Amino acid sequence: MSAIEQASARFADGELVLVGDERDETVFLACPADGIDAPRLDRLHELGRGMVFLGLPEPAARRLALPDPRRDTGARREIALTAPIDAAIGIETGWSLRDRALTMRVAADPGSRSSDLTIPGHVYPALVGERPGGASAALELARLSGRAPAVALCAVVDRHGRAASLREARADEKLRRVHAVSPAALHSAWVAAHVAELSVSCALPTKAGRFRAVGYARADQDPATVALVHGDPATRSLPLVHVHVACLFGDAFGSLLCDCRRDLDAAAGAITDDGAGVIIYAMPPQAKPIACVRDEPIDAALVAGLLRACGIDECRLLDGGRDRRLRDELRGCGLTVAG
Ligand SMILES: [Zn+2]
Repeated sequence: MSAIEQASARFADGELVLVGDERDETVFLACPADGIDAPRLDRLHELGRGMVFLGLPEPAARRLALPDPRRDTGARREIALTAPIDAAIGIETGWSLRDRALTMRVAADPGSRSSDLTIPGHVYPALVGERPGGASAALELARLSGRAPAVALCAVVDRHGRAASLREARADEKLRRVHAVSPAALHSAWVAAHVAELSVSCALPTKAGRFRAVGYARADQDPATVALVHGDPATRSLPLVHVHVACLFGDAFGSLLCDCRRDLDAAAGAITDDGAGVIIYAMPPQAKPIACVRDEPIDAALVAGLLRACGIDECRLLDGGRDRRLRDELRGCGLTVAG
């Protein structure tokens, strides 16, 4: 069972899961909000020590008519706290664990409307955008585990009140027993689940052989990342994968100042010779349009998600072992990368 499947199984049972990896500044302790009760909320406070809030995706916030604090500022952060709420019915003081758990369950219910809540109240909801981060990853965990898209979240802080890294969180004896999953792995699962609606594809005959080109972009203004798929890699053990960083001079003009075009041609040849495989043609997020940027970091969660959508959980990378960073990042997304 993969790390994502293990985390999903625990989350489906209403258990707490740590969402974070070593690079994240904020590690969240997450729990499905649709089934939260007073003991689970208490445990979230006890183990996380930070502020507890209710993470909701933007469509749920609109359904509940929650004010959007970003409307005036225009800032598009991953998390935007909005006006505190209470359940309209069944609340006593509003402060108690029981009352706040009830409010979270009401807000998490996909059938609830704005009339089921009152403002101001005692539970802070936060609008969670699709910008990759720990909170949006926790919402993806809710989706994968079949829970309602709403999560009770607590940013983990250390004994001095500072945000704890994953290593510091895991040093705590109680938190060590909580299952952890990386946001990158969850975001790759998100990409894989949304490829069908966010991509276009066509047949692409090339000199090396026949490919299917799948162009994927999360938003209209994003550059497309293209997966060139040959054969059916899902049926192969350890299919060949080449991750190519776009290089205008090398790829289009055959520049001899870098090896990009040669690598691309060699990868296409090796994959068609092997019968199946995938070339991911990626745009580095910070790239200048014409410089050769093969060493720039790329969105590994996006690459892993596209590979997952091709049915690939394990692969061989066609880079001769050069790109250790990418290899480690893909492994961090839950893929098995041989070699
Ligand atoms: Zn190049």
